[in-house]
Amino acid sequence: MEVTLKNLTKRFPSRDKKNHDDVIAVNNFDFEIPDGKLIGLLGPSGCGKSTVLNLISGLLKPTDGRIFFGEDDVTDLPPENRGIGLVFQNYALYPHLTVKQNILFPLENLKGKDKLTKDQMLEKASEAAKLVQIDELMDRKPRELSGGQQQRVAIARALVKMPKVLLLDEPLSNLDARLRIQTREEIRRIQRETEVTTIFVTHDQEEAMSISDMIVVMKDGIVQQIGKPQDVYDSPTNLFVAKFLGTPPINVFDGQVRDNRLYIGDDTVLKISGVPDKTVFVGIRPEGFILSKEGAFGCRLNGVEVMGRDISVVSTNEASLNPTVRSIIGAENKLSAQTDHASEGSVVRFNLIPRKVFLFDKETEERIDFEEC
Ligand code: ADP
Ligand code: MG
Repeated sequence: MEVTLKNLTKRFPSRDKKNHDDVIAVNNFDFEIPDGKLIGLLGPSGCGKSTVLNLISGLLKPTDGRIFFGEDDVTDLPPENRGIGLVFQNYALYPHLTVKQNILFPLENLKGKDKLTKDQMLEKASEAAKLVQIDELMDRKPRELSGGQQQRVAIARALVKMPKVLLLDEPLSNLDARLRIQTREEIRRIQRETEVTTIFVTHDQEEAMSISDMIVVMKDGIVQQIGKPQDVYDSPTNLFVAKFLGTPPINVFDGQVRDNRLYIGDDTVLKISGVPDKTVFVGIRPEGFILSKEGAFGCRLNGVEVMGRDISVVSTNEASLNPTVRSIIGAENKLSAQTDHASEGSVVRFNLIPRKVFLFDKETEERIDFEEC
């Protein structure tokens, strides 16, 4: 089921005594979520992610705009008539009911033509439990389950009615790191198997990037960029998006374009064309540095962190907006051979990979296109 948001806006009255302006939690959302895909809604805490989800579910009424499921305008439908499945961060299972009873619960409330026989309900519950691999825990109570298992039950309960749209609001936040990765892969698998249109809310860019077909990056209630995770990473529309995606994060410097050259400090780090002379922010992805004795860009070495496959070179540069500059270099590179002394405080030199370098306008922070020469 495709979901279309048309000029969707939600304002909340200000509760701040000094500032009476409304909070615009969702500002004019206007895009289509394709059928059968997994969409990641991504942004920092407070940017309006849960509000969007609650508007789609019908738990909140929009101030403006419409919501369509396929051709149907569902804006005025109550949540129970929208055909949605909801999963929240805190699993919200009924503590006094067994796993089986929790999963059966939404089916028992079906009325009229949708009403099922007991056998049909049990079969559907068993299918949903198998899908999330908890079919052996059906007689347990929620308190007898781990966090990951509880969240699977919550997902099974959301799926049992075969929703048209599955809405997940930070479903992994209460799980430990390892379980979080495992469960996000499970969610991906379940979504592929059921092909139910899924909207997955998270503040964790890595989580969203790893499982989404498409991500929607938000800031202060405003959509910044929509696209495939790799495309957004490779072509961020502005400095906020560039900084929000990627670990370690992008390195940002004060730079200057002069006579078709890009300068950071006194170093000419790239030859470019298509940009008038001006000062800019320069973003360089950590994987955009190549160690080279005669490299164009010099930084002062702080240390080297070995991370198995790669090494992370930590350095400083006066033009850097962050305290340190992080570059990721394949472990086959011998740092000592590339630098004079490879000791702390010595100069380490890099050449830059142009497609890993982005320029941003200092005022608007929008990305500036350039061509490499
Ligand atoms: P997120 O889920 O991205 O953390 P939310 O959608 O929960 O963000 O909140 C977005 C903004 O709307 C925040 O500034 C929040 O304080 C505000 N907000 C959310 N719900 C309400 C409400 N019921 N009343 C007033 N303000 C709210
Ligand atoms: Mg939220």
